Formats: sequence, C-alpha cells, structure tokens
Amino acid sequence: MNLEQAKSLDKKGWHRYAGELKPETRMFIDGEFVDAKKGRTFKSINPATGEVIAEVARGNGDDVDRAVKSARKAFKSGVWSRMAPRDRMDILYRYAELIREHAVEFALLDTLNMGKPISDMINSDIPGSALTFQYFAETIDKIDGQVTNTAATEFHYILREPLGVVGCVVPWNYPLMMAAWKVAPALAAGNCVVLKPAEQSPLSANVMARLFIEAGGPAGVFNVVQGLGEEVGKALALHMDVDKIAFTGSTEVGKLMMVYAGQSNMKRVTTECGGKTPQIVLGDVENLDTAVEYAINGIYGNQGEVCNAGSRLLVDVKLHDAFVERFKEKSKTAFVPGDPLDPKTSMGPLVTKEQQKRVLGYISAGKEEGATLAFGGAVPEGLEAGCYVAPTLFTGVNNKMKIAREEIFGPVAAVLPFKDLAQAVEIANDTSYGLAASIWTSNVNIAHKAARDIEAGIVWVNCFDHGDMTQPWGGYKQSGQGRDKCFETMLHHTQTKSVWMHIG
Ligand code: NAD
Repeated sequence: MNLEQAKSLDKKGWHRYAGELKPETRMFIDGEFVDAKKGRTFKSINPATGEVIAEVARGNGDDVDRAVKSARKAFKSGVWSRMAPRDRMDILYRYAELIREHAVEFALLDTLNMGKPISDMINSDIPGSALTFQYFAETIDKIDGQVTNTAATEFHYILREPLGVVGCVVPWNYPLMMAAWKVAPALAAGNCVVLKPAEQSPLSANVMARLFIEAGGPAGVFNVVQGLGEEVGKALALHMDVDKIAFTGSTEVGKLMMVYAGQSNMKRVTTECGGKTPQIVLGDVENLDTAVEYAINGIYGNQGEVCNAGSRLLVDVKLHDAFVERFKEKSKTAFVPGDPLDPKTSMGPLVTKEQQKRVLGYISAGKEEGATLAFGGAVPEGLEAGCYVAPTLFTGVNNKMKIAREEIFGPVAAVLPFKDLAQAVEIANDTSYGLAASIWTSNVNIAHKAARDIEAGIVWVNCFDHGDMTQPWGGYKQSGQGRDKCFETMLHHTQTKSVWMHIG
C-alpha cells in the first residue's frame, strides 16, 4: 500500500496492519540479513503500551568490523563509487519511490518503535524521507571538479571524490527521516555506508537497507548494524577504516564522536546535536493568534522530541498575559495525547519510560525553582501504561532555571518575559546551544537586526519550522558543526584531489 492509499486508513485499519507486521530483526551486511555474531539480542518496546515488539540483533565490534569490511570492499570495487552518475541517480530515484510505496510498513515500524502519531509519519516523515533521496540524487551530476588558471607550462585540475566508508549514527526521534538525512548525501556522493540506528527505534533501518537492493543498489554499499550506542556506535566511531562519522544525537555523544575520531584515524566528523530554541514574540507582532499557533506546534509537535523544539517562549511583557491566555486556550485541543495508531491522534507517548521519567524530573525541577505550572505537568489519565506526558506550560521562568537552560526533549514550554529587543536577543543567545530561533514582528528592520544578532544556524521570521531541501540544517555553538539537507551537505561527503601536470 503506497503513501496515498495509506492516507485513507483509519484506526482499525492501522491496528489490523500492525497485528500482521513481522519486523526483520537481524542486521544487514553485504546484501543480506545476518544475526549478530554472538547471537545476542535486545528488546524493542512499544512506548504506547509497554509491549515487546521484537528481539533485535545486538551487534558488537566484530559485527561493525564485518560491516565496515563489506562497505570497504564495495567501495574499492567501484561498483557504486565509479558508477556513471546517471545510473546512480536512477537507482536513488527508484529508491525514493520505493519508500513511498512502502509507506504502511515504514509508518508502522517508526510509530510502534517510538510512539510518533501515525499521521505524522504519513504526512511528514515518509514524504520528507523520499524527497531527501530524490534531492540528493538530483545533485549527483551537479558536483563538478575544476580547472584552475595557472602557468602555461602547467595543467591543474581538481577532482571531487567520495570519502570511502561513512558511518551514520542516528537518533530515535525521526528514525526514518534522520537516517535518510545522513545516508542519502553519503550514497549520492558515491560513498558506502554503515548505518547504526538508535536502539530505541531499530526496525525501519532494516527496511531501508532491503529496499536499496530492490532499487538496484549493489550489495555491500548500504549496511546496517543494530545494537547499543556504547557498543556499536562507539566501535564504528573508533574504527580505523571508517572515513567519516555523520552523527545526529545529543551534544554529549556528539562530543564523544569527536574524541573517538581523535583516538583513532582522525576521521571526519559532522555533528547535529541538541537545541534550546527561543521563539521571540515582539509587541508589534501582526497577528498574535498566528504566533501562538506556531508556538504551540513548535513545542508540542512530535511530543516535543525535536532538536529545534521551540521550548523557550520569549514574550514581550506588554503581550505576556494575552499570549499566555491564548496559548492556554488553543493548547486544550491542539495536541491531545492518545493512541498513536489512530490517525486522528496528534500526540503520542514519549519514546521510553526513562525519557518519561527524565521529562517529569524537569517538570519537578521547574516547580522547585519557583516557576508557575500553567497547565499539564503530569501523566494523562487513562494512559498510564504508556510513556505519556501531557503538554505542559510554565510561566514566570527566568533564563537561569534548569528548564530554560537544558534540553528537555519533551512537551514542556517555558515563558520568559522581556522588555525590549536587546534583552530578547540577550536571553535568546544566553545558551550553549544555537540550532534555531524564531522572531515575530511586523517591523522589517527589527526582523533583520534580530536575524543578524541571534546566534543560531536557522532563524525564522514570522513563521516556525518552514523550510525545504535547500535549507542548510544545523547549528551554531554546541548544537553541532555539520549541516544536513542542502547542497553543502553533499560536498561534506566528498574530498578534493589536486592533479598537477607539468606539460613543458
Ligand atoms: P543520543 O546521543 O543518546 O544517541 C544518538 C545515537 O548515538 C544513537 O544511535 C545512540 O545509540 C548512539 N550513541 C549513544 N551513546 C553512544 C556512544 N557512547 N558512542 C557512540 N554512539 C553512541 O541521542 P538520542 O537520545 O538518540 O536523540 C536525541 C538527541 O538528538 C537530542 O539531543 C536531539 O536534539 C538530537 N537531535 C538533533 C538533530 C539535529 O538536526 N540537530 C535532529 C534530531 C535529534
């Protein structure tokens, strides 16, 4: 059933398909599914119900080594890296189409694994992932070398070549899409890949690898090693024959990736890490209702488990009460926790019991530090079996409080009032993160000033979370140093070779 047909499924239909699902639980190396060398497994749990979905292969350093060898062998053979660009493009176009055609399987696996509403998968993650492969396929024959202007006795040209073996280490909040953001540019540039999905959401990666072969991709080019971060992720990042780690995840682990690179072969590392995004609403905002609606979507979408979640609501004191009132009112119906397999559900559970505990811990810290709980703050009634936390709002927050400083990665928003633009920018920048920010104003000069002064990789003006594949996605400061999407990402997966000929 393809993407369009999947849109017509109702709750009963999704549950029926979920009951029939038999996920592949092994790992994918050299074109085939294999068990972990030691035969170990770990449990994959549905956070909406607490039920075990599958026992998944738990790899270790030996499995990583096997996958890297397979990727290296494929790379050296030239079967992918030297394939004519048009042929590589055709395979990735077909692959994008196959992602759309397997919409039901992908939607179910990610929703059952991490609790995301199925409608988000159908309307956003699956089309977005297919588009990612399509976009990077389109760039394949747009990577040019160069002939430089030099002395008449010399001839100098610069080639752009793939790096070799790329290790992609990804998080659980958008399992398919984050894997697509990493794997697509790596493959498009001619590299071979070893993907390590998060242990909380391992299952869709196996379908990705299987479909690559179905699309005509050669064996060994796309490998998946399942397992834990400290075992498989670490072994991959320390491996002497991996040329690059493309990482998305927490700032803490992003820093470790850089350490592992230094401890091993100085491999390239790009990191996309956490955030504490400010949404700044100025007193001259043209339409307060629109700003409030975007603010609500910006923090409660995907259960707040979003790197750019707009968790700090910086509101002009003049607007504060009106903003909070409307935010409370509109939040009552905007995100209501429920069964993620129901296409009408707008909010699912958090990914695990640990994550639920962590988020509830932040809510307690907010109360202890003197912030006012405006609504939410607890596990919703009737949903105690799952890992749910209700949408939550704190007012009376200052930027020194833990809930304003640390990435909560859950549906918790904090309102921080400010007096003028200078103070808003100061608060916005008073963070170790710098992934994104938004500013709401009807004054174009103020918009430009704020965009200039805010220290973030993405600044939205009078919107939030708008963008397409041309938008560089990545942060300033400790939100990381890589960029996803965009043409620049493709270049990050290549290296230049200077060929200098003396022609006499
Ligand atoms: P995480 O850092 O715990 O894990 C990310 C990946 O790293 C997982 O595959 C995990 O298994 C692996 N890993 C964990 N410990 C490791 C270790 N010691 N060595 C090697 N690998 C290890 O992050 P998470 O909890 O899965 O994801 C949430 C984080 O991801 C948040 O901080 C969020 O902001 C960030 N994120 C950032 C972006 C972005 O584009 N900037 C996008 C999505 C998520």
